[in-house]
Amino acid sequence: MLAVQTGEEATIRAVLCASLCNCRHTLRADGDESLVEVALEHLRHNHPAAPLREERVRRIVFTCAYDIQYAAM
Ligand SMILES: [Zn+2]
Repeated sequence: MLAVQTGEEATIRAVLCASLCNCRHTLRADGDESLVEVALEHLRHNHPAAPLREERVRRIVFTCAYDIQYAAM
């Protein structure tokens, strides 16, 4: 399993909010750990009633997150 981040590469991790809730936002961060934080923040702000706990969010992020190249956007 190689997840090495090489210096200049502008790759960020993203996960579709649809995997977590239903509002179709794309959550972005510069790493899976940050992405979990972003997702939790998003859920707290936009879906305070969503019964998603950190453990589950973390699993979804690790399963569903994908790379985005800045150049490709
Ligand atoms: Zn959402």
